[in-house]
Amino acid sequence: TEASPRPRRILVKLSGEALLGNAECGIDPDVLARLAQDIADCARAGTETAVVLGGGNIFRGAGLASRGMDRVTGDHMGMLATVMNALAMQDALERLGVPTRVMSALKINQVCEDYIRRRAVRHLEKGRVVLFAAGTGNPFFTTDSAASLRAVEINADLMVKATMVDGIYSADPKRDPEARFYPRITYDQALRERLGVMDLTAVVLCRDNGIPLRVMSIFEPGALQRVAAGEDIGSLVEP
Ligand code: UDP
Repeated sequence: TEASPRPRRILVKLSGEALLGNAECGIDPDVLARLAQDIADCARAGTETAVVLGGGNIFRGAGLASRGMDRVTGDHMGMLATVMNALAMQDALERLGVPTRVMSALKINQVCEDYIRRRAVRHLEKGRVVLFAAGTGNPFFTTDSAASLRAVEINADLMVKATMVDGIYSADPKRDPEARFYPRITYDQALRERLGVMDLTAVVLCRDNGIPLRVMSIFEPGALQRVAAGEDIGSLVEP
């Protein structure tokens, strides 16, 4: 497989589940440290690195609503969960000596900076890792959509989704032995085949704004840095 051009600026989406490790809820400190190391290596290798963290390891609005809570309140709790994950990741990155800023879509000024696009870009230009927290700041969205939105806003060359599987398949490889692996597909193909790469809002934002997406495993240490170096691992979704 031919190597892709080396991206100058990437946006990495990490689901909250990624931080769970063997814990049932919350954050596994060993997993957090390993993911922080991957992000640190990527930033130190010179790639401008922004990260969107999910919150599903703590709260999801839809899950809370299914047990009777008002959906908007549940989504507020979900967004606040992403802020906690971002603070934990900031702490882990700074322990590795990487300057890091958390920028929240909800104003929580004593805790982190507000998201201001120009300031975010400035941080990235200075080599700081920027963690975008609180999703889009709006209920009924997901952190995948937030990741796509921020990737477009900061003009990222590539979005990277680090997931529990090592790429995109025609079906769930754990359940279907016939599942085919897709090294490269287009967003339209992913939509047509309902491959569930991300939610529709996220897919359409990336597709219409020309942001390619790489889907790769979170379990492989060093993989993020290899992706940032332009290596073809996992699956690439092209606009
Ligand atoms: N959320 C929201 N608006 C956003 C992003 C997230 O309301 O723009 C809420 C929503 O309740 C969601 C929760 O935050 O369930 C956590 O985000 P997500 O489920 O995307 O996290 P992940 O699955 O990546 O861990």
